[in-house]
Amino acid sequence: MRIAVVGTGYVGLVTGTCFAESGNTVTCIDIDADKVKKLSKGEITIYEPGLEKLFLRNLREDRLKFTTELAGGVKDSLLIILALPTPPGGDGSADLSAILKVADDLGKIISDYRVIIDKSTVPVGTAEKVQTAISANCKAEFDVVSNPEFLREGFAVEDFMKPDRVIVGTGSQKARKIISDLYAPFMRQDNRIIFMDERSAELTKYAANSFLATKISFMNEVAILCEKFGADVDLIRRGLGTDERIGKRFLFPGIGFGGSCFPKDVKALVKSAKGVDYEFKILQAVMEVNEKQKLSLVPRIKKYFNNDLKGKKIAVWGLAFKPNTDDIREAPSLFIIRELLKEGSQIAAFDPEAMANTRRELGENIELGGQYDVIKNCDALVIATEWNEFRTPDFDKMSSLMKRKVIFDGRNVYELQKMKELGFYYESIGRKTVSA
Ligand code: NAD
Repeated sequence: MRIAVVGTGYVGLVTGTCFAESGNTVTCIDIDADKVKKLSKGEITIYEPGLEKLFLRNLREDRLKFTTELAGGVKDSLLIILALPTPPGGDGSADLSAILKVADDLGKIISDYRVIIDKSTVPVGTAEKVQTAISANCKAEFDVVSNPEFLREGFAVEDFMKPDRVIVGTGSQKARKIISDLYAPFMRQDNRIIFMDERSAELTKYAANSFLATKISFMNEVAILCEKFGADVDLIRRGLGTDERIGKRFLFPGIGFGGSCFPKDVKALVKSAKGVDYEFKILQAVMEVNEKQKLSLVPRIKKYFNNDLKGKKIAVWGLAFKPNTDDIREAPSLFIIRELLKEGSQIAAFDPEAMANTRRELGENIELGGQYDVIKNCDALVIATEWNEFRTPDFDKMSSLMKRKVIFDGRNVYELQKMKELGFYYESIGRKTVSA
């Protein structure tokens, strides 16, 4: 099949590459000329495990192309996939301007049957808006399908190739057959496509992300209670997770959720609900809890240093909003760093993949360096992302490099007993504080 993907970010690049990998000819379109130039030359623009190898192979075999030209890019494509940003607008609702602009342009371009697939996360009713925008200038037959994407950054290729489910919202039998063929290579073991109407598909995505965010905020509140009651959230997590109705995943407390999806999607669903006269109370609380949780380490650090952080060197391990990605959008690390800078501390930070993005975001205000360079003479270390390489570090080296053996762990990476034995002052989330 010939496929065009409009928007070549995390979702678009993974989608384009994975569909090329299953034999399709894919043209990825983006308005960012620099990104298109790099990708055309074989320079990958995001870090995503396993993606680069597939990207290079499909580029070499001419199944994957990149362009800034919408008209040329969609020319022969039966399928046009929209993987465009839907950032929060000023009032929290999803900003659909990129999607509706492209829909408007497509209306002027297409002259024969196409299936327009919306992979972006969009509020209920967007498929109808896209339909209307295209129809305004278009005489050709076309179908608009809602096909929200569920990939997780850090596991995007795996998730795309082996999805738990593929949600497809369409009332068109013709589009349904085409989409079934498109996903057939990924459904060989069993067919996990769930067909439904467009509105239900759009809402499924928001409900899924909001539910996961709810699990996180719930556990973060349980962690707060643990600290107050002297209980251990790690034990409670195990006690809860073994109940199959609850499940083991997504029960880890920490310094809150970030990323480009959960915060914006929860906000957008609350806003959409308001639009139909409904106050989604649970989700309002989920957001409130998360706002507090993102910064929860700051008062603890201040307390430890008697409210005087001026000139204190704080090292930060982990900048990405979660491990295995270079994405720092809404990352808790950035909220913490900004607060600590306001308090007058010096920040030295390390992340295996997200340092270039952090430099762009925070400029020269912080020092960036190697994992052990940044802890040299530090007064405290903050762990903000649970990258695997932080799990079993060289503790002797840490002890000799750090000015004070003080760790504030926002991701519960270490065992309490071990930290006590090693002589660290160690605060984590929902567990007792230990010190030598
Ligand atoms: P992104 O910001 O990484 O990528 C969007 C791309 O679209 C950018 O490269 C941008 O230059 C390009 N773009 C913007 N306007 C354009 C236009 N008019 N024409 C062509 N290109 C244009 O965003 P993303 O993370 O890939 O997310 C895309 C959508 O998918 C969002 O709705 C998001 O909520 C959803 N989603 C994201 C993830 C994720 O993990 N990132 C997962 C599932 C769903």
